[in-house]
Amino acid sequence: GGGRPSSRLIIFSAPSGSGKSTIVNWLMQEHPELKLAFSISCTSRKPRGTERDGVEYFFVSPQEFRERIDNDEFLEYEEVYEDRFYGTLKAQVDKQLAAGQNVVFDVDVKGGINIKRFYGERALSIFIQPPSVDELRRRLEGRATDAQSVIEDRLAKASYELSFASQFDKIVINDDLAKAKQETLEAIRTFLEGKKA
Ligand code: ADP
Ligand code: 5GP
Repeated sequence: GGGRPSSRLIIFSAPSGSGKSTIVNWLMQEHPELKLAFSISCTSRKPRGTERDGVEYFFVSPQEFRERIDNDEFLEYEEVYEDRFYGTLKAQVDKQLAAGQNVVFDVDVKGGINIKRFYGERALSIFIQPPSVDELRRRLEGRATDAQSVIEDRLAKASYELSFASQFDKIVINDDLAKAKQETLEAIRTFLEGKKA
């Protein structure tokens, strides 16, 4: 891994519906001084809606994903469902770090823990936790982007994901949104200043 020693990694993981996108998008829009840039992962799922190759993800076939695994191109990867892979490309992270950006990861809990393990002190791992699973249900239903069966799948996965929270550097409980945003911002500022988060 190259890159300027000053550029760092900020990892976000959370059960779906916790408010991770809301908080991360706010940080990226309102705090350009943090020089945050999204990590672009590779996936074998098909693009959705307006997603473009090389923007949200690098889209490849399951076979190409497997070839890249064999070539040891991934820092970490997960096969979420059969033939549906997601992974972080080493070369992509190195490139973004070398450009002086602080790279933001939105990955599942296992991916988050693996990236933290690899980068150690250079990475800050943040778990965005909902106040309760009942509240998570209300938010997913309120967001109205998923079918009821998808919401049930996400909720079933949530308690498993919540059991990993203590393995993250920082847990932000997203009850009051304004407070959660500030707490996340402070943790990142402290970390980027080089002090202990
Ligand atoms: P995630 O990215 O973790 O899946 P989202 O950021 O899409 O979650 O948030 C899920 C829903 O909950 C959205 O409709 C969002 O507006 C809402 N939300 C986020 N934070 C809060 C909060 N603190 N209180 C109430 N609703 C929230
Ligand atoms: P989606 O298909 O909705 O874009 O993403 C599904 C899930 O894959 C999300 O929970 C997201 O955090 C996770 N994910 C995206 N990229 C990666 C990655 O590179 N590695 C891992 N481990 N998970 C990822």
